[in-house]
Amino acid sequence: MIPGIEGDPQVYLNGEFTPLSQARISVLDRGFIFGDGIYEVVPVYAGKPFRMAQHLARLERSLAAIRIPNPHTQAEWRELVRKLIETSDARDQMVYLQVTRGVARRDHAFPAQVVPTVFGMSSPFTRPSADLRANGLKTVGMPDERWLHCEIKSTSLLGNVLARQFAADRDVPEVVMFRDGYLSEGSSSNVWAVRNGVLLAPVNNHLILEGIRYGFIQEMAAARGIPLEMRQVSRAEVEAADELMLSSATKEILPVVSLDGKPIGSGRPGPVYAQLRQAYDEAIAAL
Ligand code: PMP
Repeated sequence: MIPGIEGDPQVYLNGEFTPLSQARISVLDRGFIFGDGIYEVVPVYAGKPFRMAQHLARLERSLAAIRIPNPHTQAEWRELVRKLIETSDARDQMVYLQVTRGVARRDHAFPAQVVPTVFGMSSPFTRPSADLRANGLKTVGMPDERWLHCEIKSTSLLGNVLARQFAADRDVPEVVMFRDGYLSEGSSSNVWAVRNGVLLAPVNNHLILEGIRYGFIQEMAAARGIPLEMRQVSRAEVEAADELMLSSATKEILPVVSLDGKPIGSGRPGPVYAQLRQAYDEAIAAL
């Protein structure tokens, strides 16, 4: 019925659970008209949400950044996520949450009285394949042409959509973007380089989304004694890196073995990736 969706799952919309095929919003919803909204994607392993507190904290930050009042308490969000997980039989899931400013006459400035639209849905999550984990993936580089508030997890994703299509047109799963010659991130992932045993990450500022794995990788690196530098990383450093990695809820942590057809390091996943991979798997197993 809907490409890529199996069956007719129950979804949450504005206080009610309904089959996806019945869920309706107004064409004047500002999410539809302006992309005036924010979202979250929470991975669920064996029925348990992973890094839930961090995801809810980022949801709160995104809402505050665009001045949408948070429609729910933390307890209500947790309860909603619990119910969304129950809508699916899948062992591992991705819970999607979205809040838009709501429905009003079309006018750019915020409407005086408007009720946020809240949408939630859970989908089966297939973890990255053994092949991807063992052999890594290829990427292409491109200039980061997005706006200057990438720290907001906004539904205005046209720049990210075009970046991902840039990759798809070149038959690779992800891009590595550079702003003014410095590493920013992927279309929907954070990017990490390793040089001489040091893990390098772009500065956590308005030019990237602070992935929940961005914070988690910092913790794992500290716990395993992997030196980490958060600083501007030039394109030349990325190209000459010993290792390159991507992180996101759906990709978890994956090694990047080439950029624009040129191998990164040995062209094989490296030892820092292996350590972080193991730590990530352990954290999931301990949920
Ligand atoms: N950057 C961008 C632009 C993203 O869309 C994502 C995925 N949400 C990430 C980074 C990684 O964030 P997370 O680890 O929370 O999935």
